[in-house]
Amino acid sequence: MNGKQQDPGQERTRPLACPDCREGLQEYLDGTLDKKLSLRFFLHLRDCGSCQHEYEQLQGLFELLENLPRHEAPADFDEAILASVPYAAYRAMEPLRRERVPVYLEEHFLPRLVRSPITRLTGLAVAAVGVGAALVSAGPDWLPVVAVVGVVPELLVRLQGLGRRVIAPGRAEG
Ligand SMILES: [Zn+2]
Repeated sequence: MNGKQQDPGQERTRPLACPDCREGLQEYLDGTLDKKLSLRFFLHLRDCGSCQHEYEQLQGLFELLENLPRHEAPADFDEAILASVPYAAYRAMEPLRRERVPVYLEEHFLPRLVRSPITRLTGLAVAAVGVGAALVSAGPDWLPVVAVVGVVPELLVRLQGLGRRVIAPGRAEG
């Protein structure tokens, strides 16, 4: 009979394979396996020198861990930890934290070129020309696009300022 076609009912009684044994050794040692499975481990370990060796090593390790001297934390351990945390410094920074605004509202989030008054004014001028030309239906078709793009730097800067005032009203404007 081919091993793969075995009756599943025999699965629980057939001899344990080495990889399965190795994998379950810790549970076997912990005694968390059910009786039948535990018996299969016992039988396999009795007959398999290499798994037996593995088992003994693991058992030795467990015993070593169990016998390690236990260290109690000193009575003032919690207090010592708390004292080492710079709470005073943390509280002193409270106003700073409260005034923090999202990074996209920080002035330096926008490129210097966009923030520059020259860019903003030039953009507005271009936009004005574009809108004027569009109103009288003069100029090339892409002029309205230029008008929109021209407004963008001024719009971004103003939106940022608005956002800052909404999110952090107490913050002094630079
Ligand atoms: Zn084995």
